[in-house]
Amino acid sequence: MAMAKKARAIIIDSEFCKGCHLCTHICPHDVLETSDEVDNRGFYLPVVKDLESCRVCHLCEMHCPDFAIAVVEEE
Ligand code: SF4
Ligand code: SF4
Repeated sequence: MAMAKKARAIIIDSEFCKGCHLCTHICPHDVLETSDEVDNRGFYLPVVKDLESCRVCHLCEMHCPDFAIAVVEEE
């Protein structure tokens, strides 16, 4: 039986991310949420809420206009 894919990490590049939250909204597994803290540019960036639920579908990466999010699959 095939095992569900799991993520080892989700990396959000705080230099390139502009907090548009396309990734947060497109994720079918509700893995990301909006940070409570504003960054030094005035943006509320996404943060990982539930890494365990990530199924490494890469939708967040495909929809990010700024190539600012990367999902690393578990070995
Ligand atoms: S890879 Fe898929 S499941 Fe994981 S955070 Fe991105 S959109 Fe959500
Ligand atoms: S889609 Fe990209 S730029 Fe927009 S919030 Fe997500 S990581 Fe940041």
